[in-house]
Amino acid sequence: VAVSIFPLYDIARRVAGDRVAVDLVLPPGRFDHDFEPRPQDFTRFSDARLVVLVGLGLDGWGARIARGTSGAEVLELGPQLSPVPLDAGPLEGKAGGARGLDPHVWLDPVRMAQSAEILAEAYARIDPSDSDGFKARARGVGDSLASLNEELSVRLKPLRQIPIVTFHGSWAYFAARYGLEIAGVVEVSPGREPPPGYLRDLLKLVRDRRVKALFSEPQLSRRPVEVIAQEAGVPIYEVDAIGGTPGLESYEALLRHDAGVFEGALR
Ligand SMILES: [Zn+2]
Repeated sequence: VAVSIFPLYDIARRVAGDRVAVDLVLPPGRFDHDFEPRPQDFTRFSDARLVVLVGLGLDGWGARIARGTSGAEVLELGPQLSPVPLDAGPLEGKAGGARGLDPHVWLDPVRMAQSAEILAEAYARIDPSDSDGFKARARGVGDSLASLNEELSVRLKPLRQIPIVTFHGSWAYFAARYGLEIAGVVEVSPGREPPPGYLRDLLKLVRDRRVKALFSEPQLSRRPVEVIAQEAGVPIYEVDAIGGTPGLESYEALLRHDAGVFEGALR
């Protein structure tokens, strides 16, 4: 089984147990939207039976890996996890027209618990003999994510309605789950430059709303967010939507780390 990005991979390997070999496509530290698979990636996954993707335009590079196999099933989790449209907040009207659905569904633990069940069903199609084992492990993952969700709900309650600005538009599902207010997004269409004049409007919003902190991501250049931070005199913190790097080697560790960054910045 080939899985496009680390957060899905961590859930996928835990549901698999030792019955199914699960491997990660996107190397940790790389950006989720514009990865170019290398020749060895196509070789590594040529015998995959299942390719697990986010879909919704995020990981088209993973779909290319799937086309290099001899007929692997492609499972796109994003469309099955109640995706919502990309939303840049009050500046949405200036973000440049219809922008499609937001692919960053994995940053909501409740949606990820559903993905564990979907994965168990997909594995059972490959190896029906361990159908019960896949289901049991998916329940275990679901329990862990339910307690993560309860913990984050309590920890993040004091941060409700404090306006924040994120760089890459990854955090909408996380913010909606825990009541954080995303007042604006620097990079309105993931991986693309904002439209002309947009950053000026965003700077005005940061000042008017007295935004307390800006949030960058380690896989991305900090330059555009640094310009706004400097002009507005607002600090930059770094949250990680992908993880898989040392210290962030489980889905829960990743979300706990990010919750800690939001707490440290806003409390
Ligand atoms: Zn992204």
